[in-house]
Amino acid sequence: MPDCIFCNILAHKTPAKIVYEDDQVAAIEDIRPQAPVHLLVIPRQHVVTLNDFKAQDEPLLGRLFTVAARLAKERGLESKGYRTVINNGAWAGQSVAHLHVHVMGGRVFHWPPG
Ligand code: 5GP
Ligand code: ZN
Repeated sequence: MPDCIFCNILAHKTPAKIVYEDDQVAAIEDIRPQAPVHLLVIPRQHVVTLNDFKAQDEPLLGRLFTVAARLAKERGLESKGYRTVINNGAWAGQSVAHLHVHVMGGRVFHWPPG
């Protein structure tokens, strides 16, 4: 997807602070952090929302969350807690049409979210 910002970042065509990479996913620092730690874990495959995931993609979903947990642990978020979020579609507030897991921590989060 040549005009997708996250595809371009993962292809190293657009600059970003990449904090993790493997063959299936990468993680970057969010450009407008909403918490002291705000990372985005992104699949290399261009998937728009969870609606596009198929049964065969289950290992990829697992990878997204195991990487999210590993990065949170590395940043010392494990004991106090942190939030993982996937916004799917307009009403959820998704602004980039390439699925990503937000990993946010370092402050208290409230529930329900806005
Ligand atoms: P969404 O609203 O789709 O759930 O989240 C998109 C996130 O991507 C936002 O938190 C936004 O700040 C971040 N973002 C948008 N464009 C860029 C960019 O070019 N670089 C980085 N690092 N983050 C971005
Ligand atoms: Zn993409």
